[in-house]
Amino acid sequence: MPRRVSIFGATGSIGQNTIDLIRRERERFEIIALTGGANVSQLTADARELGAQVAVTAHEDKLADLREALAGSGIEAAAGEAALVEAAERSADWVMSAIVGAAGLLPGMTALQHGTTLALANKESLVTAGPLLMAEAKTHGATILPVDSEHSAVFQALVGEDMAAVERIIITASGGAFRDWPLESLASATLAEASSHPNWDMGQRITIDSASMFNKSLEMIETKEYFGVEASQIEVVVHPESLIHAMVGFNDGAIMAHVGPPDMRHAIGYALNWPERRELPVNRLDLVQIGQLNFRAPDEARWPALRLAREVMETGGLAGAAFNAAKERALDGFIAGKIGFLAMAEVVEEVLARISAETGLSSAQITLDNVREMDHLARQRAEEVIGAS
Ligand code: NAD
Ligand code: MG
Repeated sequence: MPRRVSIFGATGSIGQNTIDLIRRERERFEIIALTGGANVSQLTADARELGAQVAVTAHEDKLADLREALAGSGIEAAAGEAALVEAAERSADWVMSAIVGAAGLLPGMTALQHGTTLALANKESLVTAGPLLMAEAKTHGATILPVDSEHSAVFQALVGEDMAAVERIIITASGGAFRDWPLESLASATLAEASSHPNWDMGQRITIDSASMFNKSLEMIETKEYFGVEASQIEVVVHPESLIHAMVGFNDGAIMAHVGPPDMRHAIGYALNWPERRELPVNRLDLVQIGQLNFRAPDEARWPALRLAREVMETGGLAGAAFNAAKERALDGFIAGKIGFLAMAEVVEEVLARISAETGLSSAQITLDNVREMDHLARQRAEEVIGAS
């Protein structure tokens, strides 16, 4: 029986890498839903090629274009947030959650509520609503498989291990575009400079988040929520080669490291084939040619996002939702040229301080409603802070 698969965020970097793997073993998969944004031609081409049941664009004003492009194909066309949720309700065996940002939460949560195996690239889901997501998965007997390379690496290092024996989890960071820049140049870093990554080819938003280490800060919180460890057990180490993706330190002093090429098709493929391991079209590493691996302590003056992540983990509750939303708006502000590169962390810190003084960030219970309210409030506050800067 082919595996029934849906891909949310199919037109993005993770979505296209997922499709690349599926295309190579077409007969193993049946495509239920593919979703995208404004890139209707990519969405249509993939839906037609893979024979999807339904194609959904997030933009309601693109529905007419999508309908026209799919005419005669027998593929349903739909648009908007409700249509995304409806697509997530369709029976599937495996769902890729690869929308970027907090918008990925609802479709992913819906798939879990239907007991589907969720391949989770959308780290924002765990940052904003980790306890809720993990509880829903448990209630509905659904499996969440991490797709972020670090978390896939930790997951793989833990196969057959007992969590009680885990002392620490070390996630690596390349250091992004500005790893070796003089500190005083960062304030004037341009969008183009922040949008190029030394080792990975990814979507623009996560690439900029790598330069600021907001990506790593989200991943620290993702680690805490997914693996259920304490913030004090999570370490970040700068590893410029990006070949070790993460390490798990055990109580007998052993460290299990996951080493692999910086190609997201490894982590995606691992989740796609899980619990099997199958051949994947990624480069095999030549360790002698690589010669050496380097590690450095991360400098929190260069990357204040790492300190903010620790504060968010300490606060708990809705701090993750506020942090992520403020970060998304600050990133929008940087992309639009409204604020400088270093101002992104300043905006996020100021938003957290304001909300903490106004309504507080802790919450006894995390629900979809209070997460969405907090997301909304933090975006509003971020707009105000950016507007006043
Ligand atoms: P991307 O920008 O390349 O693609 C994002 C996808 O989401 C596109 O299909 C886009 O149409 C869709 N989308 C954007 N906004 C939307 C909205 N409001 N509603 C519905 N759909 C929307 O992003 P990406 O780099 O593929 O990243 C996707 C997710 O995977 C992110 O959460 C990112 O942090 C995570 N991730 C990415 C990589 C990578 O290598 N790209 C690695 C690890 C984790
Ligand atoms: Mg990652």
